[in-house]
Amino acid sequence: MTTDPALHPVRNLSLLRDRNDAAVLSAVRAHAGTGISRVELAERTRLTAQAISKITGRLLEDGLLTEAGRERVAGQTGKPRTLLRLVPRARFAFGAQLGRGELRLIQVDLTGAVTAEAETAVDPDAEPGAVLDRLAAMVHELIAGSGDERVLGLGVACPGPLDARDGVLHQVTGMPRWHGLRLREEMERRTDLPVIVEKNTTAGVLRSPGPDDRAFVYVGDGVGAGLVLGGRVHRGARTNAGEFGHQCIDPAGPRCACGARGCLEAVCLAALRDGRTDEAARALGIAVANLARLLDVEEISLGGAALLDDPEPFEAAIREELATRIPDPHWQAVTLTRASRLAIPRGAAALALGRLFL
Ligand SMILES: [Zn+2]
Repeated sequence: MTTDPALHPVRNLSLLRDRNDAAVLSAVRAHAGTGISRVELAERTRLTAQAISKITGRLLEDGLLTEAGRERVAGQTGKPRTLLRLVPRARFAFGAQLGRGELRLIQVDLTGAVTAEAETAVDPDAEPGAVLDRLAAMVHELIAGSGDERVLGLGVACPGPLDARDGVLHQVTGMPRWHGLRLREEMERRTDLPVIVEKNTTAGVLRSPGPDDRAFVYVGDGVGAGLVLGGRVHRGARTNAGEFGHQCIDPAGPRCACGARGCLEAVCLAALRDGRTDEAARALGIAVANLARLLDVEEISLGGAALLDDPEPFEAAIREELATRIPDPHWQAVTLTRASRLAIPRGAAALALGRLFL
């Protein structure tokens, strides 16, 4: 999953000796199904045969790689090449989604496959320390299940605004008690693991590789978007880009939890609360068309429980608004996809896995 060049964690926690180790491991992971020979690894990474031999020796010793099978290359004489594969369960990482109403935690292996998960309801007015204690307890329970020091770290995805570089939460909409919380430090202290804090929607867009220009649009306990532009994750000057839900679509509209009036999030969530799904879908459709025109993205992945519970009206409205608001929708086509319900915690876990991969 994290072969995506867009995945650049805001913290460099790399465990590996150098970038070349990460390049080799990433190339092996990209060939998870078939395995890859040392010769092919040298071609892919442009490293010398000698360097590949040294690095793969180290990774085999660390238990991250295994030799599995041989391949004979057509037209080639000599002995068949030994294939190298990743050992998926050699290490694990955790991804958490901290929301206004729930806390979700997953454990993934090196391929990004989910190996365990847990969730619990959260009272948004609860004391933040108690919620973090609960998250730490969930992490420890899952570690007890898989064992020991093979855990690379914990990625925590959270609603914004927040600063992903120092892991400090700002005026998180709808969670006033969390303002100023040093989430990264607090979780590192509670778990003894390296922790990366990321905005939930940015984690969502990093869940899976895709086109160089793409967005993840989320409708759940809030409304937001994560962006990959020009092949790189777009976080903005203060790592707070993607406050898509707080664009004003109706200056006379309802008051938003952020304090402003007529934000997309306020309009959408008010309509959903009253069972007016078509109205919420229409508002989202207009905002998605605005996003597509502003940024010329190729793919928009739709996620969040409120949307995934009843996706058809949202998809229909978005398609209609894209078709009517983009002057040449065939030329500037936008692919709509449905994200998995675990997209955000999986993206958060991918950031923690990023310690080993490019
Ligand atoms: Zn707002």
